[in-house]
Amino acid sequence: MLKLENLGCGYGAVEAVHDVSFDVPSGSIFALLGPNGAGKTSTIMAIMGHVDIHGGRILLEGEDITRRRAVDRVGLGIALVPEGRQLFSDLTVDENLTVGGYARPSARDAAKRERVFGYFPRLAERRSQLAGSLSGGEQQMLAIGRALMAEPRLLLVDELSLGLMPKMVDLCLDTLTQLRREGLTVVLVEQNTARALDVADRVCVMSSGMLIYQGTAAEAKAAGSMFATFLGMN
Ligand code: ATP
Repeated sequence: MLKLENLGCGYGAVEAVHDVSFDVPSGSIFALLGPNGAGKTSTIMAIMGHVDIHGGRILLEGEDITRRRAVDRVGLGIALVPEGRQLFSDLTVDENLTVGGYARPSARDAAKRERVFGYFPRLAERRSQLAGSLSGGEQQMLAIGRALMAEPRLLLVDELSLGLMPKMVDLCLDTLTQLRREGLTVVLVEQNTARALDVADRVCVMSSGMLIYQGTAAEAKAAGSMFATFLGMN
């Protein structure tokens, strides 16, 4: 579904990610792990079209999208759940979902909204409430729901678990697992390595802008302390 070939990207002349290559199979969850500043967010921003590409290619189902504008990439079926949720706090739950739908308008707005409420019934109960007054977990649900309104084939999720209660992390990750079963492909940037390994099919570890480990989640678990070393955990 998604292929990165020798990707280099960054901010102006500053290169944050160097020579990164990986393949994300269709209908899988791919976890990008690594310490702060490793280049994980920059990598998904490159996939979304929000940072400068210095070299290499990004392919979506074989199509080279490296130079496509971010707005076109949404049209091709890529959506982002950004770090820190980035909701419109003065808008209601319903209005935030409407904004998500603008990214890729279709006549099926009501059906898309009901689908989101199916995954997150709590959002339905709070549909008239301002996003800024939701709990952290509810805000994360809304951020995922807003991205789903663009009907993505590929969902990029940045630091879902940050600041959330474990119960909420479980609920959101369970939903991603369900979406994966329904055919969605997910790239998950996550600090919570243990939970990422539970839900991911494949994982890679980045450090200082480079990819230093790649394997299946089962291989990473079996590697045990060696894998922890890659993550700088011991
Ligand atoms: P974190 O978990 O802390 O977000 P990360 O692995 O996602 O870490 P990035 O945010 O991609 O890492 O950062 C990679 C490098 O790019 C870091 O050296 C960071 O300082 C730099 N960087 C990130 N955003 C910008 C920016 N807007 N302008 C310049 N440099 C940036």
